[in-house]
Amino acid sequence: MTAAVLVRPGAFEIQMVPMPQIGPGDVLIKVARVGVCGTDIHIYRGHYAAGWLPLIPGHEFSGTVAAVGDGVIAVDVGMRVIADINIGCGHCFYCRKNEVMSCSEVKQLGIHINGAFAEYVKVPQRLVIPIPDDMPFDVAALAEPLGCTVRAAKKSAIRFGESVLVIGAGPVGNFHIQLARAIGAAPIIAADLNPERLRLAKKCGADVVVSDMSTLDSAVRAVTGGRGADVVIESVGLPALYERAFDLVRPGGRIAAFGLGGEDAVVRFAPQKMVLKETGIRGSVAAMGDDMHDALTLLRFKRIDVRPFLQETRTLSEVQDAIEAFAADPGILKMQIIV
Ligand SMILES: [Zn+2]
Ligand SMILES: [Zn+2]
Repeated sequence: MTAAVLVRPGAFEIQMVPMPQIGPGDVLIKVARVGVCGTDIHIYRGHYAAGWLPLIPGHEFSGTVAAVGDGVIAVDVGMRVIADINIGCGHCFYCRKNEVMSCSEVKQLGIHINGAFAEYVKVPQRLVIPIPDDMPFDVAALAEPLGCTVRAAKKSAIRFGESVLVIGAGPVGNFHIQLARAIGAAPIIAADLNPERLRLAKKCGADVVVSDMSTLDSAVRAVTGGRGADVVIESVGLPALYERAFDLVRPGGRIAAFGLGGEDAVVRFAPQKMVLKETGIRGSVAAMGDDMHDALTLLRFKRIDVRPFLQETRTLSEVQDAIEAFAADPGILKMQIIV
């Protein structure tokens, strides 16, 4: 089969590689669409995965079941599917709690092991998720990134009528905005330096957009009775923005940590701000358990405007160009590969 193989940081090769061998319980999926995300940029640049190259990245995919291994039930050849990408041991404390990312054996498809920048990808059957017959493959391939933000929305427990500040209006920031809107949060404030992202944020449900970070505090207070936001979502990953989140959240409010930042990034904050303001900060990573199923439901019933995410496509042979173009233009919310 044809695959885009990252042979070393910064270098993809389009290669003919052996088909993935399916064992008992495995499902072979013929890939239809696969998204490019920020994680792929990090992998491409050698920030992660450099230690286990060559690798076929690609983890936001949809496709059709091409073959099933022994013992596979309820997944049939021809079924249109997506897949949870987090492969845990399946039986430890964390796997049982749907916190698979904390499983000591966790491997992510397209990040730790071969993924979907290829004609076929192999997935354990327990992670396969059927999609509705009438859902296009491009929409279905958004369930993974949307699922990650669904998890963050659940963890931060945003409620009807609460004010939400989303710092960073990129792909995931835009999903945070749309989920907050779907939940009934108000007002929703989006902050980003890029005017195109803010235009899309406004189109997708932000009430107030802020591009000049020096005016962010006053912009937030102007629409929150001077208090600060009930929920602040950091979706960039910069220590300075995490530090500001403690000033932008109202007393008693919550901070959602979503932006990853580098391994050596360190945030400084005064414990007093947490204690006296009774605020808290809560992280979330990846889509686990029901998150992708919930994302699929939201996509199916059109609670999310997917149009800004489906503007840019490339072919499998253009993966390197796709990643370069996506990284270069912050106005592109999503780049998908047509396989
Ligand atoms: Zn991703
Ligand atoms: Zn486990």
